[in-house]
Amino acid sequence: MDGFLLAYDGFDPGTEGLREALTSTGNGYLCTRGAAEWEDADGVHYPGTYAHGGYNRETTILGGLPVLNEDLVNLPNWLVLQLRIEGEDAIRLADVELLGYRHEFDIRNVTVLRHLRFRDRTGRETTLESRRFVSMTDPHHAGIEWTLIPENWSGHVEVISALDARVSNRGVARYQQLEGRHLNPVSPRTFGPEVIALKAETRQSNLYISQATRTRVFRGDDPLPPRRTLYQMEDYIQQVLAFDVRQGEATRVEKMVAFYTSRDPAVSDTLVRAARSAARHSDFPASFERHSAAWDELWRACDRRVSGNEQVQVLLRLHIAHLLQVCSPHTADLDAGLPARGLNGEAYRGHVFWDEMYAFPFFNARLPEVTRGLLMYRYRRIGEARAAAREAGFRGAMFPWQSGSEGSEETQRVHLNPLSGRWEPDLSRNQRHVNAAIFFNIWSYFQATRDYAFVERYGAEMMLEIARFWASIANFNPERERYEIHGVMGPDEFHEKYPGAPRGGLRNNAYTNVIVAWLCDIAGKLPSLLPASSTEGLRARLGIGDDELALWQDMSRRMFVPFLDDGIISQFEGYGELEELDWDAYRAKYENIQRLDRILRAEGDDPSRYKIAKQADTVMLFYLFSHEELCEIFERLGYDYRPETAARTIAYYDRRTSHGSTLSFVTYAGVLAALDPESSWDRFLVALRSDVDDIQDGTTKEGIHMGVMAGTLDVVQRYYAGTYIRDSVLYFDPRLPSGLGDLSLPMQFRETPILVTLSSDRLTLAVGPEGASHLIRAGIRGDVRELRPGDQAVFELSRGMPASGPPAAD
Ligand code: BGC
Repeated sequence: MDGFLLAYDGFDPGTEGLREALTSTGNGYLCTRGAAEWEDADGVHYPGTYAHGGYNRETTILGGLPVLNEDLVNLPNWLVLQLRIEGEDAIRLADVELLGYRHEFDIRNVTVLRHLRFRDRTGRETTLESRRFVSMTDPHHAGIEWTLIPENWSGHVEVISALDARVSNRGVARYQQLEGRHLNPVSPRTFGPEVIALKAETRQSNLYISQATRTRVFRGDDPLPPRRTLYQMEDYIQQVLAFDVRQGEATRVEKMVAFYTSRDPAVSDTLVRAARSAARHSDFPASFERHSAAWDELWRACDRRVSGNEQVQVLLRLHIAHLLQVCSPHTADLDAGLPARGLNGEAYRGHVFWDEMYAFPFFNARLPEVTRGLLMYRYRRIGEARAAAREAGFRGAMFPWQSGSEGSEETQRVHLNPLSGRWEPDLSRNQRHVNAAIFFNIWSYFQATRDYAFVERYGAEMMLEIARFWASIANFNPERERYEIHGVMGPDEFHEKYPGAPRGGLRNNAYTNVIVAWLCDIAGKLPSLLPASSTEGLRARLGIGDDELALWQDMSRRMFVPFLDDGIISQFEGYGELEELDWDAYRAKYENIQRLDRILRAEGDDPSRYKIAKQADTVMLFYLFSHEELCEIFERLGYDYRPETAARTIAYYDRRTSHGSTLSFVTYAGVLAALDPESSWDRFLVALRSDVDDIQDGTTKEGIHMGVMAGTLDVVQRYYAGTYIRDSVLYFDPRLPSGLGDLSLPMQFRETPILVTLSSDRLTLAVGPEGASHLIRAGIRGDVRELRPGDQAVFELSRGMPASGPPAAD
């Protein structure tokens, strides 16, 4: 498994939660943490299963006040498989002497494995090997296989195979005071001698979840009929399989599982559906083979090969695997958004933020149907976004900062500071920039695919309604003769308001204002880009008159952008008047100052007083737009945009950013690729290791960070390979760090597959064969070629090529 293995030797209770999150197995429909099958949720282990859209709302009375939260529900635990030897208590890691222990994640087949040798209290030594997968072929199936070998004994064993709905959301320590019960029992049931099944329902959202399982025992290839006994309660069902084992002989136990919810198509009763499906399930080896074949296909489209560094290779693949476990081609058919923390834990409650912006470039260039599906999640919630805009006194569509089941605002109003133990107000919902991200994402998807059908039917409506929202929240300041936006905040969550201000929001966040200027330009032109018939219908339906198009064009020329001295862009108006923080003092006092906001608040101070930033905010502009694009935007706005503006602005904020969000390392790695390759590589490595090393001290066990995982792949594609699309040409502007070595990555551009191979002095593009490909235009600046199906083009790269600044999708 060269370059495809994450492995841990020895059991470590302190890091088991982290390992569970990182060795989760999923298929874009459901995902289960890599917890050991025989353990219950306690301080060390946390079995958790999550499915897209499995949300539920509960109210907690906190200090006498009702607090309503929507959570992604921890679904019934289908893993339970326990071993009892000679009638003794079921084996737990804490109760046996481990003679050998290895926990592996086979990245290639997205399979979690445990190899154990243990000595129990009576001195029996046993080997237990476990493998488990969630099928990428059939999204409703999963399987566990145990191989048991008694090393120094023969005797009688019982295997307990259960489905357990007595679970709650208890995976995040900060949320312990909040209501964690989300499931009501419905019924257990058996179907014939082999299949047991269980149905539960979410307490408020009335989602039915059913699981069914068939457990079998084999010696070699022969089934070994065990004695089966049943025990059931309304929220738990188990079957005990009793059989004899002989010293040195391997016995295999297979637990094959089927999983359905009432959100699935082609389902009447979920319980019966799951039971039938479990009964028809093939045995583990055949099912695993089909699962593995589906991953083969995904790797052909999605792998990244690098020659420079084995560690980098493994981590890039780990990130690809995690991205695909949460969002795969199966997700494209679901009503699913991209949850910021994957389907691997309960942090951020499974909510959807703006992090998809870091993941879409990966999907656009290989599985664009996934982007389309995730954008449809937004479209289905446009009604709620319109209502939110209206209720706030605006027009158009205002999508929420945190989105869940219905697309209403799910951002919590209070937030527990773990350092002080105090609940503090949370004003982060004012991050209206998520609306610019959605616009940007639709436009980038369109650039990569030319999917007119999507844009005409859904995309344009979202884009125009978003532009309309921005036009209504903006005000014209006659003194400046410019449009301004007040009462919003940028991505930097350390500044939710001005120091001492009674209300949230800031004036003229530069990132927001510039991206609004950009999107207003596109929105103004959009009707003329679409076929006349659909434009007319769309404009009539949305009531978009010429005056509105003219207003957007005007905003694209007259948004206000605040500057500090020396041409540095000011994060927002007034940032320059804030106090400098004594960074050295804080670094000396605290081991980790990434979450300076919590530190300062716990000290009774207020982060909004200082020139600090949690993450890239203004710097996002250089991540999303190329130098040429920024020149165009600023020129249209009538601002002086100098060649050195990017470098100066990036350096200014770099000194003042604590990187309290791992997204920040990705952004800086990207923007520094051209300016300071060494520093870019350092940031890239931090981003790449941030989840495996859990650099935020315990957050990864609460769920992987989808944004940073996807972001590392984005940096390789858009910065190190330097891909960008302009005027319907796929360009490469490579800046391969030496640590990466040679790079090869399959891509797709407008339905045409291309294998991209890059070394420091050569770019090779091999276009897919006739039938699967079209003519495309691709190349480097100054050498753009028309490539036909089957063509292979080689571009010699001269090292002295002028730097063009950070590239981006146009
Ligand atoms: C970051 C946001 C991000 C969210 C979810 C926060 O810590 O500040 O930018 O969207 O996490 O990943």
